[in-house]
Amino acid sequence: MIRAFEVRIFALGHAAVNRRSLLAELRQGSTAGGHGFYDYDVWENLKVLEGSATVALRMAEQLDYRIRDSTPIEEIAINAHVSSVRSVNGEVLLGSHVVCAIPSGPLRDIRISGVNKERLAALHRLQHSPTVKYVPVYPTSFWEENGQNGTGYFESTLLGGTWVQAHGVLSALVPVDRLGAFQVLPSHRRSEVFRAQLVSAYGPEAGEPESEYIRNWAGDPWTQGYSQSLRPGELTSIGPLHGSHEPPFWIVGSDQWVNGYMEGAVCTGRQAAAAIVNY
Ligand SMILES: Cc1cc2nc3c(=O)[nH]c(=O)nc-3n(C[C@H](O)[C@H](O)[C@H](O)COP(=O)(O)OP(=O)(O)OC[C@H]3O[C@@H](n4cnc5c(N)ncnc54)[C@H](O)[C@@H]3O)c2cc1C
Repeated sequence: MIRAFEVRIFALGHAAVNRRSLLAELRQGSTAGGHGFYDYDVWENLKVLEGSATVALRMAEQLDYRIRDSTPIEEIAINAHVSSVRSVNGEVLLGSHVVCAIPSGPLRDIRISGVNKERLAALHRLQHSPTVKYVPVYPTSFWEENGQNGTGYFESTLLGGTWVQAHGVLSALVPVDRLGAFQVLPSHRRSEVFRAQLVSAYGPEAGEPESEYIRNWAGDPWTQGYSQSLRPGELTSIGPLHGSHEPPFWIVGSDQWVNGYMEGAVCTGRQAAAAIVNY
């Protein structure tokens, strides 16, 4: 059973099972209404065909001039009447509400005032799992002709497993416990090592992608990781403030939900928007 849990968790890029909160897993399962741990039919049954970044880009088109691109926020001051947000280039935006959708890591780097200190402590305690993503692109989904579905669980390789991203496209993550071994590989050899691991799972065609991409989410300053990760005891330490708001400070995004995936960003955003409209 432990091996089965380990391979599932490694394929998702997460930490070893003894460093995963069982309470968090149970909370996640009960919220989705699944009948087991990470029930794929419940959790993974929808896909943004053009890629998930399209969601943000389409929303940005509608918001037009109100968006500031490449403008990090460095200070948030909450006040019952008028709150303010200051960007690194000195621009100050005023508003009666502040909706904060910044992930937990970068949020720790922002000066926040006017917010209850227990809430800040809970927000600052949230953490992400780091990972590296590998995406090879092939002319066809050749694995299907070999009777394979493209979902792989790897026990002892750098890659934790694979899933099918789109026609001819596989995706794979390096789990947190194997990131050290990834970092010591010279960067020009990383693709070659990943390809060899896919060849052992899917045959020689896996060694000849048309293109391939590696993205180090462990080192991305704007997420500081991949998705929410809760160690045993962490959920109770963060406490019941998780996923709640302190109007006029509203906190949304995947990290404020039960498992840190896209569904959480959508759910928390919708819920906060509805509450603000009726405030
Ligand atoms: C490799 C990988 C695979 C994934 N696979 C899946 C999957 O299969 N299914 C799924 O549902 N989810 C998946 N996810 C998770 C999903 O991408 C996230 O849950 C989702 O994108 C989080 O949305 P968000 O709006 O909360 O945060 P983000 O999309 O991270 O957006 C936060 C934004 O805040 C910005 N920001 C950061 N700091 C500042 C600052 N100081 N000032 C201003 N802006 C700032 C960032 O630049 C970013 O644009 C995956 C994530 C990764 C990395």
